[in-house]
Amino acid sequence: MLHICYMIEEYLHYIWKFQHFNCADLETTRGEKIEVLYRGDYNHHAGPDFLEAKINIAGVNWFGHIEIHLKSSDWFAHKHENDEAYKGVVLHVVWEHNREVVMNEGEVLPVLELKSRCDEKHWQQYQRQLPHAEEIPCAKLIKTVEPMIIQHNITRMFVNRIEQRAADILERLELNQGDWNTTAWTTLCAAFGFGLNKLAFIHLAERVPWKLIERYRDDQLKIIALLFGQAGWLEERPPNDPLKRVYMMLKSAYGLVAMEKVQWNFGQVHPANFPTQRLFQLCKALHLRGFKMAYLLNELNMDDAIFQLQGGEKWTEEIDKLLHGIKGVNPKLKMGKTSANTILVNAHLPLIFAYAVHHQIDELKTLIIDRFHNIPPEENKTLRLWKESGVPVRNMLESQGLIELYKSKCTHKKCLSCSIGNQILKTT
Ligand code: SF4
Repeated sequence: MLHICYMIEEYLHYIWKFQHFNCADLETTRGEKIEVLYRGDYNHHAGPDFLEAKINIAGVNWFGHIEIHLKSSDWFAHKHENDEAYKGVVLHVVWEHNREVVMNEGEVLPVLELKSRCDEKHWQQYQRQLPHAEEIPCAKLIKTVEPMIIQHNITRMFVNRIEQRAADILERLELNQGDWNTTAWTTLCAAFGFGLNKLAFIHLAERVPWKLIERYRDDQLKIIALLFGQAGWLEERPPNDPLKRVYMMLKSAYGLVAMEKVQWNFGQVHPANFPTQRLFQLCKALHLRGFKMAYLLNELNMDDAIFQLQGGEKWTEEIDKLLHGIKGVNPKLKMGKTSANTILVNAHLPLIFAYAVHHQIDELKTLIIDRFHNIPPEENKTLRLWKESGVPVRNMLESQGLIELYKSKCTHKKCLSCSIGNQILKTT
């Protein structure tokens, strides 16, 4: 018999879900006959593991939830005794029973122990075919899975990802009391942070009211002074410095408070991605057109958006010279197409998608999802792992879906709740 130290809870979920154990003459640990009339709906969220099951115990039908643990004492380790959500549990399914659970009404919670009912060969097959030590456990066998199942999984993961992004944006919209332009401004800034400086860019957005961007977007000197000043990069400049003079005027007119320079992260950042370089590119992208929600919705032309992100038109080189001496700024370096695509994917498209969710415009949602098909895929370590496993990554929809699949399932080794993992176990 398998020892408990080898077993994992996810495997117990799997065998309960598919009733893949010896189901003959089931009994509770107290010897009462059990009949599983319905095993319940698998719950992917907080709360008991299977909801609304129907179980007959000692001739009485019980409707309620199923909770699964390695040991019955885990009920207390996970503090379920204080949690209202677990009051409706009617059966405790465990690998090993080691402690009774007494519910509030004083009744002992019925327990089904599985350790003598498990198919050891199936468990070994699972461990061999989906080895947890691998970064992508199914890497060697994914080629045996029908492409349609893989594609369906990738698309579902992509949709989860963009819906989550939209939910985050709508949460921000609520904080901004329904102001789409301020929400779009913060989202754009976050995207210019490219991961390591995301938080610092969000802080900057919070310190630069959108109405000031709107007011000064035509004035290159003021937009540069406003953003570099608020980001903390002009504090040490002499009072007669042209940028500093403009910034001080704006600062006192609007009661602005600058960020601390230390909030900007330069460590492990490629020079093209230095926060000051991105800040300079943000100023250029905002010049003339700004970043208004109405503009985003009216012009779904992505080439135009890329052009704007890469610097747009009519920028004066004289302004560039004023930035001389600021760490990491290289005015000659234009934003690359890949970076511009990353901003589209992290700001423009999720914003429009969130707008479509908020106003329930399904055609707009479909249109945005379609746009992801037309953008080249990202390149990173995770996607290289997928390619090495033989999974093609042909466009941004696939790359985003695969990143999400890796992050939400593969890294947590949730192969048993993944249709690809299920297919591998079924066919081998
Ligand atoms: S979670 Fe799915 S895709 Fe990820 S490694 Fe496991 S079986 Fe493969």
